Amino acid sequence: RLVLGIESSCDETGVALVRTEPGGAPRLLAHALHSQIDMHQAYGGVVPELASRDHIRRVVPLARQVLAEAQVALPEVDLIAYTQGPGLAGALLVGAGVACALGVALERPLLGVHHLEGHLLSPFLSADPPEFPFVALLVSGGHTQLMRVDGVGRYALLGETVDDAAGEAFDKSAKLMGLPYPGGPHLSRLAEGGRTDAFELPRPMLHSGNLDFSFAGLKTAVRTHLVRLGWLDQPEALAAPEHRATLVDLAASAQAAIVEVLVKKSLAALKQTGLKRIVVAGGVGANRLLREQLNQACQRRGVRVHYPELHLCTDNGAMIALAAAMRLQAGLAEPQRAATFEVKPRWDLSSLA
Ligand code: ATP
Ligand code: MG
Ligand code: FE
Repeated sequence: RLVLGIESSCDETGVALVRTEPGGAPRLLAHALHSQIDMHQAYGGVVPELASRDHIRRVVPLARQVLAEAQVALPEVDLIAYTQGPGLAGALLVGAGVACALGVALERPLLGVHHLEGHLLSPFLSADPPEFPFVALLVSGGHTQLMRVDGVGRYALLGETVDDAAGEAFDKSAKLMGLPYPGGPHLSRLAEGGRTDAFELPRPMLHSGNLDFSFAGLKTAVRTHLVRLGWLDQPEALAAPEHRATLVDLAASAQAAIVEVLVKKSLAALKQTGLKRIVVAGGVGANRLLREQLNQACQRRGVRVHYPELHLCTDNGAMIALAAAMRLQAGLAEPQRAATFEVKPRWDLSSLA
């Protein structure tokens, strides 16, 4: 069966084609992505109305590109999957609307996919796919969660952030330091060669005794250091070459604080569940320090670590087509005949069955 997946929950338009064969793992035939980062950068964050309008412009050309690349004709598609939530309502409606229109025109069923289930399952498209059960560390721009995953649709929440997500901690710290949006990758690049102990930063809830996280205090601490330096909201000071070494140290210290908490809590989750496998998913999963430190810690404990391929860490259509394909194969999903569609801007992953 051939699944067309459409992602439009935030600021990336993604389309992909996945083929499922009975008994085999789903295979990615082609995928295409348009990131709106350049458009939103001027505003320092995602502008929802602009995001919706850009998804409208991009989605059909991307779908054409994917079909051409996979050498598939549109009527060969058996199922149309779209991101149903969580995300920006107006942005979600674009993908859902296009999926519904295709469903009606082709007389094919639709399947609404949970965006985080997409992230969570994305390592199954890698060269080294995981096996169930595993602990999942989901670290994206909007979420930071540890989960126990026993199979497709069997997700038990172990802990999550009580305030900012890890990606948000990266992005907000980066913004304070004058870096472009989204700041995660920029901060990570700036941090290279910096001293991780140059600035004192909190490791919130490291010893909370549970698997929850808190990152809001970290951003505040970065802010306080910048106030003390006299550089807060001073673009010239932040860009001054003679200040660069200090900013490199601050970036390195902030990154080390975030990564330390993520690694220690992941180890605690592995210990608590007794599992010997962990999957990292979401945009922050692309972070090199996180990968290095987690790999090192897990190797010592005989734990296997799995990541999505680097280009599939952030939002994409491939993970949406894949999640739909895996739900179908697991017999969990009942594709809907297209007549209407619904989006769920707020939607809890552990409510999925
Ligand atoms: P959600 O999936 O929770 O709705 P999202 O879709 O916006 O949120 P993703 O696309 O999974 O999130 O990831 C984007 C986040 O990943 C951003 O916060 C970005 O800064 C962060 N990120 C991407 N690459 C890196 C990196 N190398 N180091 C640190 N953070 C990174
Ligand atoms: Mg994004
Ligand atoms: Fe995402």
